[in-house]
Amino acid sequence: MIQLYIPLNFLGVLYREIKQSLTDLDKMFNLLDREREIADAPGAPELALDGPPELRFESVRFAYEPAREILHGISFTVPAGKTVAVVGPSGSGKSTLARLLYRFYDVGGAGLAPELAGAIRIAGQDIRQVTQSSLRRAIGIVPQDTVLFNDSIGYNIRYGRPDASQDEMIAAAQAAHIHDFILKLPKGYDTVVGERGLKLSGGEKQRVAIARTLLKNPPILIFDEATSALDSANERAIQSELRSAARDKTALVIAHRLSTVVDAHEIIVLEHGHVIERGSHAELLARNGRYAQMWALQQSGAEETVVTPADA
Ligand code: ATP
Repeated sequence: MIQLYIPLNFLGVLYREIKQSLTDLDKMFNLLDREREIADAPGAPELALDGPPELRFESVRFAYEPAREILHGISFTVPAGKTVAVVGPSGSGKSTLARLLYRFYDVGGAGLAPELAGAIRIAGQDIRQVTQSSLRRAIGIVPQDTVLFNDSIGYNIRYGRPDASQDEMIAAAQAAHIHDFILKLPKGYDTVVGERGLKLSGGEKQRVAIARTLLKNPPILIFDEATSALDSANERAIQSELRSAARDKTALVIAHRLSTVVDAHEIIVLEHGHVIERGSHAELLARNGRYAQMWALQQSGAEETVVTPADA
């Protein structure tokens, strides 16, 4: 009993940490099958998609813990093939939206009756009613902080689609602007990276994650922007890579810097789990409200990240 308890307990901790960081999801899910809290509905069909789908958050409410609701009825739509960005202060619930879309948790969460929880739909299908494997195949995540496997950089990119050819892997690395960097490594694509190998910078790791996602080529993309500030050249480069990754995909961008969101179809401003403003960059500037205030603050260089709680 004790022998069984220790590894399961360890896996439980690991699972929670992974859920938190949206990192290297599929591999860990295979390992941690027994720990899944979310089960497929009996006889659930696969998510049926025909190109990049529309995403809808419908009055979504969520609590990690009873009596502490984090999202209070969030509604927005990402039209098929468009990019919607979510901005707002730290702790406003941005990453929680991404975790719900990937179904780490179901809408509602702790202590909320299912009929009050709202729904998330992809191409009209409630994500609770389709298999998790088909849902996760359809979504590519570029997480805030990519954890690389202690394996070759080629393996780390190819992990997006293990049966990809060498040429396809290189094309993805080129599109993510990491190919030239890799060629300069001691063993090129065979160089071992990760905790016990070559350490990469935050920007380089994020490019590996973008290459991996480009290779996977999913119709839906979640980009959880790194909170750590990159230098501005690196930031511009990552943004252009992101734009190319999001082309022809339905994308949800969790943004910590407003410069990333200027081109988004719509920007959702979240505060304390409520949508307080929404619109295009130009519309939100014209409104002269909270977003305009955050923009002015960032332009003045007073703040590098969107961490401006109203009650701070
Ligand atoms: P940031 O910009 O700092 O990444 P965010 O807007 O993405 O913040 P979330 O990570 O969605 O915010 O967190 C929203 C709220 O939920 C925060 O108050 C956070 O403390 C709480 N929270 C997040 N994860 C958990 C968890 N696993 N258990 C309990 N509360 C949590």
